[in-house]
Amino acid sequence: MTRHFNFCAGPAALPTAVLERARDEMLDYHGRGLSVMEMSHRSPEYVAIAEKAEADLRELLAIPANYRVLFTQGGASQQFAAVPYNLLGEGGRPSFVDTGIWSRKAIKEARHLFGEVDLAASSEENGHTAVPRPEAIRLAEDSAYLHYTANETIGGLAFDYLPEALRPDGREVPLVGDMSSTILSGPLDVSRFGVIYAGAQKNIGPAGLVVVIVRDDLLDRARADMPTLFSYKELAAAGSMVNTPATYSWYLAGLVFEWLKDDIGGLSAMEAINARKAAKLYAAIDASGLYANPITPANRSRMNVPFVLADERLDAPFLAEAEAAGLLNLKGHRSVGGMRASLYNAVPEAAVDALIDFMTDFEQRRG
Ligand code: PMP
Repeated sequence: MTRHFNFCAGPAALPTAVLERARDEMLDYHGRGLSVMEMSHRSPEYVAIAEKAEADLRELLAIPANYRVLFTQGGASQQFAAVPYNLLGEGGRPSFVDTGIWSRKAIKEARHLFGEVDLAASSEENGHTAVPRPEAIRLAEDSAYLHYTANETIGGLAFDYLPEALRPDGREVPLVGDMSSTILSGPLDVSRFGVIYAGAQKNIGPAGLVVVIVRDDLLDRARADMPTLFSYKELAAAGSMVNTPATYSWYLAGLVFEWLKDDIGGLSAMEAINARKAAKLYAAIDASGLYANPITPANRSRMNVPFVLADERLDAPFLAEAEAAGLLNLKGHRSVGGMRASLYNAVPEAAVDALIDFMTDFEQRRG
């Protein structure tokens, strides 16, 4: 059995130790004679799994007691709709920071559902190579909340600060963060947020699960015309079991949380590893004459490292040779081309070292 190094942007690599444990528990979970996949979500065994996962996530992120944690479905894309439904009950418009493809998808969905939105800032003028500076984010008078994408998975553009969600009248509105590709990569001050959401398939677990962290005073701000399954209030009241949850993905997320706590030693330790991995790869890119990454250093994503080759004709041989060397999924998103190496938590430092060795060797031979 060989496990290759997987740089996929999502569904992404999972820790081998987690998959081994899932394998060991697959057919007979803790002597119960059945798989977690086959359990009722209402059974005491499964409820214990679900509660442990939440407790571990709370511990990892130091989530304050006045926040609810929801384990829901529909992808992070469903939250593009769920967030406005849940937060626009008292009127006003949503404000957005536009930093690229994923924030634009969130903007498009809010517009589609509820009409005009407030564009509080955009990095379009610099070609999405630097996030707007804090003072450039200006909310409208009628702003109901501020949504931003902490890490643009395709562009490789990451915020280096938490935006302030202040209206011109000085009133603070909830800050909403799409943390799909950056959650759990390091510590986070959850208390600064109204809502955090993240699709699981990068740093949390398998696809099919979305984690939402919501401040409990926001549960009463929803529009009345909302689908029940979008409702944070309903989900919170039912322990995320309004209907059948993504039980196996939730269980696997729990194993990932345990791995982060016990094997890695928590999010500060994880952040140090991630910083080292990304710094090495960016240094190799910057030192080369063949590879380039356009993002301003302070906003370079530690999770997704896009890069282009100076000669596009080398893209195909680069990818073919990388794959033959056991370095998988380095092709950039279909909308932008080039390459992208995603360095999520489960991508070991050895994978980054192997990638850099390969890139150096390829440049010497072909560059
Ligand atoms: N937001 C961000 C930042 C993402 O990277 C993605 C997926 N790559 C999404 C939202 C959408 O996630 P999903 O496919 O789970 O709907």
